[in-house]
Amino acid sequence: MGHHCTVCRKALSRTCLRNGHYRQCGTCEEYYPPSLERDCPHCRNKDSQAEKRMEKEVKETLDLLMKLTPDL
Ligand SMILES: [Zn+2]
Ligand SMILES: [Zn+2]
Repeated sequence: MGHHCTVCRKALSRTCLRNGHYRQCGTCEEYYPPSLERDCPHCRNKDSQAEKRMEKEVKETLDLLMKLTPDL
């Protein structure tokens, strides 16, 4: 684990969850502090990573197409 509560500045405990210092994401089951994050940062990062990968794939595909079909 090694997570520290941003509110009590101690290792995460059940008290933190009970007092709403941390919330468990229903999607990835990771914990995040709702006082700092409006939505789950883990899922958000996952999304942006997937987006970046998709962008890269799109770019690679387009680059390849450009090579195969050069402008006349
Ligand atoms: Zn706490
Ligand atoms: Zn999540």
